[in-house]
Amino acid sequence: MSERFHIAGGADQVVQSVLETATALIAESRAQADGPGLAALPTTLMAEVRARSMTLQEQALASGRRPACREGCAWCCYGTRVELVAPEALVIAASLTAPDQEALRTRIRETARRVQSMSAADRHRERIACPLLDQERGSCRVYAVRPLACRGLGSMNSEACADALAHSDEDRPIPKHLPLLVSQSAVATGMRLALGRAGLDERLLEASAAIDIALSHRHAAQRWAGGEKLFGPAATTTRAGPVGAAARFGPMPSPVITRNQRKALRRAQRGR
Ligand code: SF4
Ligand code: SF4
Repeated sequence: MSERFHIAGGADQVVQSVLETATALIAESRAQADGPGLAALPTTLMAEVRARSMTLQEQALASGRRPACREGCAWCCYGTRVELVAPEALVIAASLTAPDQEALRTRIRETARRVQSMSAADRHRERIACPLLDQERGSCRVYAVRPLACRGLGSMNSEACADALAHSDEDRPIPKHLPLLVSQSAVATGMRLALGRAGLDERLLEASAAIDIALSHRHAAQRWAGGEKLFGPAATTTRAGPVGAAARFGPMPSPVITRNQRKALRRAQRGR
């Protein structure tokens, strides 16, 4: 039996269910447009999506095989091109506004500039650290709100991750927890479909550039939720290249989505 069948209801059902829930949340926030609704949309949406992600993670782990991923394990935080969508960037940015985090905000901006024209393979080869990584402690500074892409890496062997990083000019595979990967990818797809359906920017964004944009624009959450395409400079149409980061962690496998859902996403993309 394929590991995929450990996902309760299957990936299609997860996509559909997240799509419906997220669509309802967006509609609710629009109904409160004069109140905190729009500005609070990224927080509300991501709280729901994270909850779904964690529930599915538990279900995927019920297969009995546990991935090696844990807080404080950070080989994957070097050299990996992390992609996310705007509400994820907005929620992370909102957690980084304290005055004593100025140096971190500067590091995010500098990383965004440095990797702007870098291929995924070069980024991996040069082992560029994620700016959100606390390199002294080896831990993610935004672990509770880290991107879905980071939640779903699902390596079965941290030594393989370390080995892939140490040999970043080679294509060293990492054994993965497929149900975890597929379930997290299904959650992300459901959310993107809901954003596209609502006319919101659902593009995949390079993480450091997107967080920098969220930090540097006033009322960014409200503007994004109002349909403004603030995140254009961070948008990426290229997925991770054929070597390097892709060989290690990405792109996440596409969940099985229905023909209608695929059409809806294409329509939303054409409508931009
Ligand atoms: S993907 Fe690898 S390096 Fe990252 S948390 Fe999982 S085991 Fe650790
Ligand atoms: S966001 Fe956190 S978990 Fe993801 S790559 Fe950066 S430091 Fe690592």
